[in-house]
Amino acid sequence: MFLRPHHLLCMQKFSGHGYSLAFTAHMTALLHNLHAHPDTPVTLICRCDDLCAACPHNQDGICESAEKVARLDAGVLNAASLSAGETGSWNALTERARRSILLTDAFHSICACCEWYPLCRQTEAEYER
Ligand code: SF4
Ligand code: SF4
Repeated sequence: MFLRPHHLLCMQKFSGHGYSLAFTAHMTALLHNLHAHPDTPVTLICRCDDLCAACPHNQDGICESAEKVARLDAGVLNAASLSAGETGSWNALTERARRSILLTDAFHSICACCEWYPLCRQTEAEYER
């Protein structure tokens, strides 16, 4: 599957909230499948991905907040020493994002600009348990 780098954070922080019912249902289905198959290969891309597919802000393959999400993607790639185009298992990539970002101050510096930040900073990440 294909994911934007910052979605390695959002998917771990997901607590049932999202942009629309279709979006949250799609996120839930993706996570259910990834938890059942944690070795699923994930390729990082800096454009609309498998999660964006059900997002109301995806306008013909372009995110309405393209500038903001590009900054989030760049922040994640930099902090986790990852590259666009890189492929790894869901398990390996989320673990890397957890250790280098979610469990460090990088989470706050990367995510503070996001409208969901107040919620995400209260949400226990899947792998923080
Ligand atoms: S604050 Fe925004 S970018 Fe960061 S994990 Fe939450 S939803 Fe994703
Ligand atoms: S289209 Fe934009 S707002 Fe929607 S999930 Fe993708 S990156 Fe996030």
